[in-house]
Amino acid sequence: MSREPIKVVLLVENCGEDATFLRATFQHPIAPEIEVIHARSMAAAETFLAQRSVDIILLDLQLPDARGLGAVRRAHAAAPRVPLVVLGIDDDAMAAQALREGAQDYLVKAEIEPRGLLRSLRYALERKTMQETLSMERERAQVTLNSIGDAVISIDTSGNVIFLNAVAEKMTGWPWREALGVPLTNIYRVTDDNYREAGENQGEMQASQDPPSLADCILKRRDGVEIPIEDSVTPIHDEAGRTAGAVIAFRDVSAAKAITLQMAHSAQHDFLTGLPNRMLFADRVKQAISTATRHSKKLAVMFLDLDGFKGVNDTLGHSVGDRLLKSVAERLVHCVRGSDTVSRQGGDEFVVLLAAIEQAEDAAITARRILQAVAESHSIDRHEVHVAISIGISIFPDDGFDSETLIASADTAMYQAKEIGGQNYQFFRAAMNVRAVQRQSIEESLRQALERDEFTVHYQPKIKLSSGEITGAEALLRWTHPTRGPVSPAEFIPVAEDCGLMVPIGRWLLREVCRQARSWAARGLPMPRMAVNISTLEFRNENFVQNVFAILREASLAPETLELELTEGALMKHVESTQSILNTLRAAGVQIAVDDFGTGYSSLGYLRKLPIDALKIDRSFIRQLTSAAPETTMVTALISMGHNLKLRVIGEGVETQEEMAFLQSHQCEEAQGYYFSPGVPGAEFAKLLKMGIFEAALAHH
Ligand code: C2E
Ligand code: CA
Ligand code: CA
Repeated sequence: MSREPIKVVLLVENCGEDATFLRATFQHPIAPEIEVIHARSMAAAETFLAQRSVDIILLDLQLPDARGLGAVRRAHAAAPRVPLVVLGIDDDAMAAQALREGAQDYLVKAEIEPRGLLRSLRYALERKTMQETLSMERERAQVTLNSIGDAVISIDTSGNVIFLNAVAEKMTGWPWREALGVPLTNIYRVTDDNYREAGENQGEMQASQDPPSLADCILKRRDGVEIPIEDSVTPIHDEAGRTAGAVIAFRDVSAAKAITLQMAHSAQHDFLTGLPNRMLFADRVKQAISTATRHSKKLAVMFLDLDGFKGVNDTLGHSVGDRLLKSVAERLVHCVRGSDTVSRQGGDEFVVLLAAIEQAEDAAITARRILQAVAESHSIDRHEVHVAISIGISIFPDDGFDSETLIASADTAMYQAKEIGGQNYQFFRAAMNVRAVQRQSIEESLRQALERDEFTVHYQPKIKLSSGEITGAEALLRWTHPTRGPVSPAEFIPVAEDCGLMVPIGRWLLREVCRQARSWAARGLPMPRMAVNISTLEFRNENFVQNVFAILREASLAPETLELELTEGALMKHVESTQSILNTLRAAGVQIAVDDFGTGYSSLGYLRKLPIDALKIDRSFIRQLTSAAPETTMVTALISMGHNLKLRVIGEGVETQEEMAFLQSHQCEEAQGYYFSPGVPGAEFAKLLKMGIFEAALAHH
């Protein structure tokens, strides 16, 4: 089936800006292996398609040499078997026409975002495959029907049989010699009421001027077997124009019936799993909504997406992947009631309709059951395959009044479930949408922020608690949005990570930090250790280490001046590669600090194995210091853990004199926080460096 991933996309787009945007979309980390070929005109696209095939065509409807429907037709003609997704402005009429001309989907340019685009392409490919299979089946059915001959019986004016052909003999079970002269109604026993009346009342039949009837009815064979038939009756006239009898022609439609049924089933079901497809699902939701409304009940829509399914496909192959999908489908069906609907949307995405529930909590119960059922190992081919699933839930009438909205809300919630690590369920909350919108607008402006030079770096001093000296500077990224003003890194860094921008931004920052260090040194200032935050994604980038070294070399800075701050989360993943990356950095002299220490799940045994220099106690623990006495033990414990591991301990987020004093009295080596100074621009930090000592730290000592 269409489990094959999309590899080559032909983008037909003349507007340079749009093309750049769309290409960038394909560079999104969720679509790493797609090759995008760009044609600027229909002519160029046609030339290309004549030579090479592609998996999908993404077609702009405003080309200089082809517009609107003309463009759809030409693209379709150039590559009739390749699914076509068109890009236009928000124009419903055009969209409907384009779909009628064979386009698989119509996307509104202004609304495109990476996940939606990729999903649309994937579904287009699947739909195309499905349509081809369907039309093949239809053709085969036609051939089958044509090869079956018609049965023919003719009768005289009194309704007695005068002739049966071979097919009619077989179908009625009457050899024609025996049937001769027998009343038609004895031989041709049909259970269609309309016909029986006509058959029993010759006068009426003869008088009838209606065109030959073509009704579906059941023929009862001589031995009692029932055969679905389709028949027609034609009166025979003699030369004088008087009715001389009639010819009844009929055919066995059981095969055709079966095929029709099967075709109806295929059109509404997923080929791979046999589950209802999107169309049927939408129908079911519609019905369920009207029932729920009548009985003032609720219903739930769940959007489910396997975690790491691509990995299964890549390592074990598509056939195992397909069977895993079937196995998941079976388990989903077992987790719900007979009145609920499980459907596959495409790819590794499923949606479930819980038709009538009393309260949202009922959906949570089912979600938990699903999480557990799917997580149990699937035996496929000798493989024990493990897979997790993320679930988003929306509730009617709370989160939407129609199928589309409910599915979209559940999808948003599912995305949230993924974000917090997968293998969990989330209910839709209206705030998610707001956040999604915000996120998207941040993403758009972030793309331009580097070019427009909107980033700056602030430096926050780290103070040695025994002497008050500045030992280091933590670099903090600052972004000033052209209209929104300063945006918090807590807000934009996750977005930058998501859309693949964190790596280039991180490189820019490291370069800037090194440049700053050089310029302080050139002015004869004491060089602090420069601490830089590294997000998980930056750290996992294959060129990360190489880049750090290259940038240090470029700035002729000793590796010892650089300290990388990594969170526990970043360190605890992929234990072996983490260890080897850190070893390489550490061997060169780069310092490593564990950021936000205490908030993650570090295993001490594991930390002991890593080449680490410092621990930064998360500011949430420092915050508890002054409030109540018992909590202070947590900071004490964290400090002694650090010392046990022979690490430098840094308390971060120190805001008051008491907090500082506590750390000082517990032999915490360094501190950082608003009590000393917030992050400040480089020029201001230079003044702090010149001053050298924080008297405040000494006052108490
Ligand atoms: P973080 O690494 O824990 O950075 C310390 C954060 O605490 C900074 O917030 C800093 O301004 C704030 N802070 C410092 N002293 C105090 C204090 O006394 N009280 C309180 N309440 N807060 C204090 P900021 O700059 O908003 O950064 C937030 C987070 O964004 C950082 O947390 C870090 O995870 C991330 N981040 C910042 N810059 C970068 C960067 O260049 N690269 C990466 N990957 N992440 C960065
Ligand atoms: Ca930090
Ligand atoms: Ca921190």
